Amino acid sequence: MTCPPPNPHMQRLGKNRGGYHGETIAIHDVLATARATAQERGWMTETLPVTPELNLWAFHRGGTAPRRRVYISAGIHGDEPAGPLAVRQMLDEDRWPTGVALWVCPCLNPTGFVASRRENAAGFDLNRDYRHQQTAEIRAHAAWLARQPSFDLTLCLHEDWEAAGFYLYELNPDQHPSAAERAVAAVAALCPIDPAPVIDGREARGGVIRPSLDPENRPQWPEAFYLLRHKTRHSYTLEAPSDFPLARRVAALVTAVRSILDGE
Ligand SMILES: [Zn+2]
Repeated sequence: MTCPPPNPHMQRLGKNRGGYHGETIAIHDVLATARATAQERGWMTETLPVTPELNLWAFHRGGTAPRRRVYISAGIHGDEPAGPLAVRQMLDEDRWPTGVALWVCPCLNPTGFVASRRENAAGFDLNRDYRHQQTAEIRAHAAWLARQPSFDLTLCLHEDWEAAGFYLYELNPDQHPSAAERAVAAVAALCPIDPAPVIDGREARGGVIRPSLDPENRPQWPEAFYLLRHKTRHSYTLEAPSDFPLARRVAALVTAVRSILDGE
């Protein structure tokens, strides 16, 4: 017996009014499983000390004769559980293109997940802190990034509680071949795509936002700006719609990552 295909026009849950009110996760359990899985699969795992009470983790896999270096991060907003779960699932499935070396930060904001809030426990939106680095988390993350090589591609996994469907941002100033439309098409088979012409205040087309901006002119930097400035020339930020079931958001992120990496 075959399963019926997922309905791409599935209804929104209608849960998220004025903020995220969906599922929560036990982040320390998720991360402990992710790290154990990574180690079983032969990844190197590293602890990034933040404070005496708090660590971040980073995982690295060299691959065989790697041609491309790819960085993936998740969990910078504590009310976006799909990202860390997507990372854990991909580590478990262990299906990566040959020739790709990977660096993975599975959760950049553990205290935000414990508090079920976007910001960290002290109330800072970590994804606005990469220019001035006022938080210990981002200082620790930036110090770790500085010890890594440059990346051919970076992927930041997020959710958006206001979105009508999946969408993504692409920063690609050198006009490298883009996987954005291919990724959106792959996700569309299992999750609605946000059709809005303006998403989060930016012009969008078919779920793809390509902001024309100069980070130097911006007072606050999200992670993607920092990566573009210091580590890469090609960045995607993937946004799963929080108003759909968590399993579907995870599947949307995993599908988008796989679709983008398939071209690597
Ligand atoms: Zn986010």
